[in-house]
Amino acid sequence: MAYRWETPASVWQEDERSRQFELLATEGLGRIDWQAQAHGRLPDVARLLGASLPGACACGADGAPIYPEGFAFCPNCGRPLQRLPGTPSRLPGWWGPGQDAMLPRHVPHGLPVTSLPLGDSLEERPAAPHVGRAEVSMPAPPNSTCVFAASHYGFPEQRLLALAHTRGVLQYWDPIAQLWHVMTPDEGAASLAFTASAYAWLPVLEPRRGEVALVPTADGLMRLWINPVSETYRTEPVLAAPLVAAPGAMRRHIACLIKPEGTVRLWSARADLGEVEEYACPDVPASGWSRPIGYDGRLFWLHEAGQLAWRPGEAPQFTPWPMGWQPRLEFGGPTQSRDGRLWHIGHDGQGYSLLELGSDRPQQAPIDGARLGFANFLFRRGHPVVDEPWSGEHIEDLGQDETLVLPLLRAFNNNRSQPSGLVLRFHKVTGRAEEALHERVIPRTTVEWIGRRNVILDEIVRLSRPLECLPLVYAGCLWLHHPDWNVLRGWRLEELA
Ligand SMILES: [Zn+2]
Repeated sequence: MAYRWETPASVWQEDERSRQFELLATEGLGRIDWQAQAHGRLPDVARLLGASLPGACACGADGAPIYPEGFAFCPNCGRPLQRLPGTPSRLPGWWGPGQDAMLPRHVPHGLPVTSLPLGDSLEERPAAPHVGRAEVSMPAPPNSTCVFAASHYGFPEQRLLALAHTRGVLQYWDPIAQLWHVMTPDEGAASLAFTASAYAWLPVLEPRRGEVALVPTADGLMRLWINPVSETYRTEPVLAAPLVAAPGAMRRHIACLIKPEGTVRLWSARADLGEVEEYACPDVPASGWSRPIGYDGRLFWLHEAGQLAWRPGEAPQFTPWPMGWQPRLEFGGPTQSRDGRLWHIGHDGQGYSLLELGSDRPQQAPIDGARLGFANFLFRRGHPVVDEPWSGEHIEDLGQDETLVLPLLRAFNNNRSQPSGLVLRFHKVTGRAEEALHERVIPRTTVEWIGRRNVILDEIVRLSRPLECLPLVYAGCLWLHHPDWNVLRGWRLEELA
């Protein structure tokens, strides 16, 4: 005999003999696979559903490990249960270093710039030359080449997802059990693999329960839904055509590059998917695009061969780079001059220069060497470049001549005159920047916060492929991930806790 309990969002069944509750259905999550061996998952599931957990009473030992939403007292002894909140979290989400919708319009979107106030906490640590250490750690996901999202997906608490986008494996972090779970695709779900171009997904700002993002796939643009109770995911097609570049958003419009057959086309729609428009983009490459960058009312996709710029409602424009000029996309990304124009670094065979983006007849500014960074967070070797992107570097400490700084994440803060952010500093590197980024194992690297005071957060011995270092913000900490590491290194952020 079993009793049926209905709550506003769920249907539960109580086994008369064991007095245990089984979830039969809950709003938005589809089929529920409630396995007894998954009891280790119940503390996490209860927090996602806003259900109740055993409280102070001793009935828990052989009684029910979870109670339906709204249960306030143990049905057996009447003592209070732990009742978990049911309203969706309001914490700002994290969608990768290039996906912050809260940035003001005069800051380029799509670059590693965050509006979270990271500096206020990080700068409370002892300043350089003191060498700090990571304060917290978390196991790396089993498929470690991935992108991360920390959001509430319509649930009461934030959860961390790691999508191994080259393999199409979606991984879910259970923070209570401290375990990664590989999610199983529901029947009919599209493969989440996307390798044609750099990866970016489009977050949903007011998600329904389980709704994650619009994701690029080889089958089209998909809406991704997770079911953390059954540890499954499903996809819902938004656009059925192979994507060749990641989607981007510009104000009320979204757009992506597709290749239905023959030539590449730009597909766009309003964020509610109305007003679909398509434009042919003859002679543009069908892979190898950067993530889109949003600036000045336009979206830009960059490529080794040229730039594609698009303003909603107009035809996209592809402009090949000038003869002989090659962009250095791996150096970071576009940066702004004081008059608001956007520039990218490249090399013309003779030397480096900055090239104006988004112009039919772009200006060029020659510079005397490589500059790494993006969005006015620029470094020439170990020294910051302030003022204009072609200005001379600001030398405070000559000793930093033998270091090379690679910016990872800028923290945007209107109240600061100089940009602050997270960087890697390679020590005793005097060769070309290209070599350090691609070919060598760097013997000593420090992870540093550059801000009102500079803080050395940690030290890394023998780092290779530094461009794969990925910062993320989750659970009140700043984390740094690299696919070669077994653990993520983390630092507490008091301001966000
Ligand atoms: Zn009890």
